[in-house]
Amino acid sequence: RLEIKDITRSFGGRAVVDHVSLTVQPGQVTCLLGPSGCGKSTTLRIIAGVEMQDSGTIHVDGELVCDTIFRIPPENRSIGLMFQDFSLFPHLTVAENVAFGLRGAKAEKRSRVIQLLRRVDLERYIDDYPHQLSGGEQQRVALVRALAPSPKIMLMDEPFSGLDNRLRDDIRDDTLAVLKEEGTAVLLVTHEPDEAMRMADEIALMRDGKIVQQGAPYNLYNAPKDREAAAFFSDIN
Ligand code: ATP
Ligand code: MG
Repeated sequence: RLEIKDITRSFGGRAVVDHVSLTVQPGQVTCLLGPSGCGKSTTLRIIAGVEMQDSGTIHVDGELVCDTIFRIPPENRSIGLMFQDFSLFPHLTVAENVAFGLRGAKAEKRSRVIQLLRRVDLERYIDDYPHQLSGGEQQRVALVRALAPSPKIMLMDEPFSGLDNRLRDDIRDDTLAVLKEEGTAVLLVTHEPDEAMRMADEIALMRDGKIVQQGAPYNLYNAPKDREAAAFFSDIN
């Protein structure tokens, strides 16, 4: 369970993230939805630990991850990351890419890699190199690479942009299935209401650094808080 409480971060006197609080339960997808520049990526970077907050706390499963004094380094946070530039290591095979963050005996790592690749139907590429795979296939490999060490939390920043529509639907479905199965708590950033409606158990609508409304997708869709929120959802088909 990811809990962020009252996170604030300013640049040049402007609060880019403004008293943001969020909870994401295991096996649930929360979407951080909002227009460009509203502070979504900055929020994720703070949770990942590559950016520091000015105030506020982050807990994972009740354990303090960081406040303004104490900080667990990013690599020890049990947080997986998947960003838009998902680039795999070109000089490593698919298996080596997926095993990259894994510790333990070689045989164990191999069986985990096989198990994960099977789930996204890519086992046949196990000893190939990234350039031998299509963009969508590489994205699936990137997903299972992020999931391989079984992070409790997965942060995804527009991970499906740059894919054509049909492929995007397939990968979204695959991704959701794998994440639900693993019981990962997912915080997914998007500026597309459509994507949030499809994927989220809960949507947090963000504007000017603040969360202005939060709830189940259809609650936000049916009862937007104000005109601006309504306009944001109005172009969904
Ligand atoms: P997009 O949908 O376009 O990715 P976003 O919601 O992810 O937008 P952020 O990347 O979080 O937006 O940026 C929010 C604001 O904070 C922007 O105005 C950006 O210029 C500013 N910002 C982010 N990081 C820094 C930084 N290191 N220094 C100064 N300003 C920053
Ligand atoms: Mg962003």
